[in-house]
Order: sequence, then structure tokens, then C-alpha cells
Amino acid sequence: MNELELLADLHRHNERQGPGGQAETRLALQLAGLCGRRDLAIADLGCGTGASTLVLAEALDAQIVAADFLEPFLDILKARALEAGLAERITPRHASMEALDFAPESLDAIWSEGAIYNIGFTRGVREWRRFLKPGGVLAVSELTWLTEQRPAELDAFWRAQYPEVDTASAKLAVLERHGYSPLGYFVLPPHCWREHYYRPLQERVPAFLEDHGNSPVARAIVEEQQQEIELYERYGEYFGYGFYIARKVAEG
Ligand code: SAM
Repeated sequence: MNELELLADLHRHNERQGPGGQAETRLALQLAGLCGRRDLAIADLGCGTGASTLVLAEALDAQIVAADFLEPFLDILKARALEAGLAERITPRHASMEALDFAPESLDAIWSEGAIYNIGFTRGVREWRRFLKPGGVLAVSELTWLTEQRPAELDAFWRAQYPEVDTASAKLAVLERHGYSPLGYFVLPPHCWREHYYRPLQERVPAFLEDHGNSPVARAIVEEQQQEIELYERYGEYFGYGFYIARKVAEG
């Protein structure tokens, strides 16, 4: 198995592959103003095993294309959708978020929890806009500095991992610059990291290492994950995931 396949195997057993929560997806839905509308067309990009997709499918009258570039995640999403009786509303699509082929102005909403960083916030915001109908909604969660100042060690770690990490005001300005009007912003609470994401991940580690013969690559992946968790425990007051909800507006 290559490193990406190993990463998928570490994560695929868990309900979600990044920080988040069902209540937080629902809160974002309220802010997006999508509830109660009919026949919506939605894309969930970087959907993983479908944590947000399933909430959207249950709450909305919508057809949802759930796209991810890792097939093992989509296989699990399919099974979960069937089990929940929601398969008719969800179309899993093996696709890269960097090469999407939705028709221009065809979507009422683009959803992406903990995944836009893979293409980069600014690029995603810019490139995905063309798929939204006028007035369509973009809802994404994204690594965000919660304070203007922060410890140098933390700053260096996240800048190396993700150069676009920034404050909420900077992210909102990016949205405004690229033809969106912000509808809402909130920060994911700590249990979205600890209970929903890190704890299940840590519980999976012993079986993961055993399944892969305690190989150096598997151990390196676990170690990197552990480093991230420790950083959150030490510095969680300085960074988090911001949830950004914005409406597409005509560019001036
Ligand atoms: N949205 C899910 C959740 O909240 O549980 C998954 C979040 S996980 C941190 C990021 C997801 O993005 C993974 O499922 C990964 O496979 C997917 N991904 C990464 N790069 C991608 C790309 N270029 N195209 C499509 N999906 C991608």
C-alpha cells in the first residue's frame, strides 16, 4: 500500500475524516437558508465517508453529488446511504475537486467540510463559483486562526502544513473579493475535534498498526497524526475550524 492508501485505511473506519459534527452541519444549513426549499441540486466536495452528505440528504429535498478522489471512502458512503434509506438522494462520484465537470450555474449549493484546503481556499472559492446558480450557496469549513497573535511553534507548524491558514476576517475578505456575500461564520466547538475526530482516530491506531505489520510508513503516519493531536491539546485556543457560509452574488 502506498502512503495515500494507508491514510485512507487509517481514516475509513471512522464516521468522519475531519473535525465536525451533525449539529454543526445543521447549523450551517440554517445559515445557508436551504431548509424548506424544494428540488435542490447540491455537491458535497471531499465528502469522505459521507458525514455531512448524510445530514444534508436527511434534512433537505435535494439530489446530492458526493465527490471524493478516494474510492474506499465512497464505497463506505454508498453502504451508509443505503442503510439510512437515503441512497436515492445521493450520487457518489469518484472525482477530483480540481477537475469537476458540473454544468455552469447548475448547483444550488456547494458543501465542503474540512476539504477545501486540498485545492486551497482561494482557488476553491474562485473555481467552484462558476458551478453555482446566481444566489447559490457555498458552505465550507476551513482551518482558521482564532487570534491575531499566536505562539511561534504553532504558527510555523500550520504555515508549513497549509500556507493559506489565516484569520476569519481574512477568509471572509477572500469570499467578498471573489463574488460572494457572507451569510454566516462560526467556529467548530472543541468536541468536534476531540470526541468526533481525534478520539475515534486514536482508537483505530492499534488495529491499523497491526494490520500493516507495524511498518515504518504506518508508524510515521500515526506519529504525524499524534503530533497534530498534541498541538491541538496545547494550542487549541489559537486555532480551529471556521465554518463559512456565503451566497454567490453578481460581480461588479
Ligand atoms: N468531508 C469529510 C468529513 O468532514 O468527514 C472528509 C474530510 S477529509 C479531512 C478531506 C477529504 O477530501 C478526504 O475524504 C479526501 O479523500 C478528500 N480529498 C482530498 N483531496 C481531494 C481531491 N483533490 N479531490 C477530491 N477529494 C479530495
